[in-house]
Amino acid sequence: MIYHPETYRIPDKRMQPFIDADEIWSYLRQVKADKGRVRDVIAASLDKKRLSLEETAVLINATDPELIEEIKEGARTLKEKVYGERIVLFAPLYVGDLCTNNCQYCGFRASNKGVKRITLSEPELVAETRALIDQGHKRLILVYGEHPKYSAEFIADTVRIVYGVKHGKGEIRRVNINAAPFDIPGFRTVKESGIGTFQIFQETYHEPTYRKVHLGGIKRNYEWRLTALDRAQEAGIDDVGIGALFGLYDWRFEVMGLVRHVNHFEAVYNVGPHTISFPRIQNALSLDIEKEHLVKDEEFVRLVSILRLAVPYTGMILTAREPADVRDQILRFGVSQIDGGTNLELGGYSKGKHDHQDLTKGQFQINDNRSLSEIMDELIGSGYIPSFCTACYRLGRTGEHFMEFSVPGFIKRFCTPNALLTLAEYLEDYASDETKKAGYRLIDEKVNEMGEDRRVDKLKEKIEQLKTGKRDLYF
Ligand code: SAM
Ligand code: SF4
Repeated sequence: MIYHPETYRIPDKRMQPFIDADEIWSYLRQVKADKGRVRDVIAASLDKKRLSLEETAVLINATDPELIEEIKEGARTLKEKVYGERIVLFAPLYVGDLCTNNCQYCGFRASNKGVKRITLSEPELVAETRALIDQGHKRLILVYGEHPKYSAEFIADTVRIVYGVKHGKGEIRRVNINAAPFDIPGFRTVKESGIGTFQIFQETYHEPTYRKVHLGGIKRNYEWRLTALDRAQEAGIDDVGIGALFGLYDWRFEVMGLVRHVNHFEAVYNVGPHTISFPRIQNALSLDIEKEHLVKDEEFVRLVSILRLAVPYTGMILTAREPADVRDQILRFGVSQIDGGTNLELGGYSKGKHDHQDLTKGQFQINDNRSLSEIMDELIGSGYIPSFCTACYRLGRTGEHFMEFSVPGFIKRFCTPNALLTLAEYLEDYASDETKKAGYRLIDEKVNEMGEDRRVDKLKEKIEQLKTGKRDLYF
């Protein structure tokens, strides 16, 4: 069945568009950002309050360099205070690049006719999954173009195939999805395969720009896209990821759009999104966009810091689109998840690492070509705790970031010990001797910092069990 917005009825008044461009612009034009106000807003966020649109506009409108520094410092403090040093690692796995849409920024778009399109067969998908398991990955996001072939049933089948792969000492324990929107029954079908997060990026919340850059296919329909994750919620998927593609329109408007989207979920479903993504446009085959709104590095740091403060309980994802130095810098301002060892070429993981990317074989250019093991070394060396934890999802504790944020002691009791356990598992199975030494030094340090606690003894016991061959241990 081909899902199409024109044959689909909105069943409920809840699923109405919720972006009011005039409202957003009136905040951006009118809200004053004097010192006292900016400091009050930062303080409210550090007090763990999600910011309103008006408060977000205060931070956006602060242009005084001293205030910008205070906003960045606020984001850094919030990250340290709430999330600590953990960074969750994942990898994208592209399943198919057939696409009937014409998004001007994307290499997969239908008008790129000369490109050989690939949809992974079951053995190819298994081979890709095995190659990712061999790197040490436990969490994947499966990515698809928008095409009748990639129906809800097809996607659900690919998820089951990935979960079914047991290889060496590992397996994939959480599969997230980035795919086109479905109707409610479609989302239900995908949910039944046991997915983690369903991610859909609005690309731009500014409707006229949206219409300008989406030239053909179902994705042209702004409202169908905007209400997509409402349908996911109605289908029982309460773990959703939102995002905007920065560079299509004014970044200030997009930040407000993202915050409005969060408010909408909170108001209607009583649960915010699990993650926010903020990709910046990268080069792609026949990229065809105006350059006016491309986001500079210093604006990018600002917008990530503002988002961190505006939605303090939401996970934030930064991908290998960004070069290593930008990633390292941005990590400090509140990012909680990054990808590692990323290869966008369909079937690329099983072919091995490559430094030169062929734009005809991937959706866009990536700028961080580090392998997962290189990223692990750098994270460990900088005192971060790399984590492959999937415990909350597997124990049915949905809204993991929300719990980290709102349940006192949750991070200390669950997240940090689980991060250390998954790190120890990685060190045992995939790390070089040198990484293993540095990794266990970090683990010892963090265990000591936990002080005297019943849980610490349990944790030490579990680490010893991992060393003697037990796997997949968590609290
Ligand atoms: N086809 C699905 C869709 O459009 O929702 C799957 C998403 S696409 C494969 C993943 C995301 O990559 C898009 O939502 C978009 O934000 C982003 N993307 C597309 N072209 C890009 C580019 N040139 N640079 C950076 N990100 C890009
Ligand atoms: Fe297709 Fe998604 Fe690329 Fe648009 S962004 S052309 S829908 S793969």
